[in-house]
Amino acid sequence: MADNGILITFSGPSGSGKDTVLSKLVEKRNDAKISISMTTRKPRNGEIDGTHYYFVNREYFEKKIAADGMLEYAEYAGNLYGTPKEPVDEMLRAGKAVILEIEVQGAEKIRKLYPDVVSIFLMPPSVRVLEERLRGRNTEDEETINHRLVIAREEIRKASDYDYVVINDTIENAVARIETIIDAERLKTSRNKKIISEVINNV
Ligand code: 5GP
Repeated sequence: MADNGILITFSGPSGSGKDTVLSKLVEKRNDAKISISMTTRKPRNGEIDGTHYYFVNREYFEKKIAADGMLEYAEYAGNLYGTPKEPVDEMLRAGKAVILEIEVQGAEKIRKLYPDVVSIFLMPPSVRVLEERLRGRNTEDEETINHRLVIAREEIRKASDYDYVVINDTIENAVARIETIIDAERLKTSRNKKIISEVINNV
């Protein structure tokens, strides 16, 4: 078995299908877990506190930062988003592939803090498809959609900073590609030092 869990950052523009792809992935694989972020954004229709996010106010969020309880955090479209530290550490110790669904600034910060993090960018097949998905969601007003499209173009330009790019043409294809990444990462020598040295010692 691999020495430890795998920390994965998973980014992609709003509307690229991150939530759908990840929920299908964790349905299929018990060794993949999604970290639940904290945000000061208001819940959208159907979003559940403690499932999609921990929805908190800015004061609570700032206290958590001050107490060193966040792995990373970033401001995005006027709201704070961040990853609570403790549950991530616990899942990594249990050998899981822990996926942080975070925007590009957060992914950059994590890359600096944890050099062996695996970064994945979920790419829409085109900006036109992205726009259609954002509008089809029917949860945001025109101004918010336009703002998110501007941010999306900036994010897409950063895709080549990531270790892997996964095109989300169909959900099934995207999930299969992420599974391939997790499987390959688990086989890396750097993640299997213990078993390697055990075998070598018995040669
Ligand atoms: P949304 O409002 O669409 O749910 O999320 C907006 C952006 O914030 C998305 O790009 C999402 O990946 C990112 N995000 C969600 N949770 C976190 C987090 O814990 N940290 C950071 N840095 N970004 C996050």
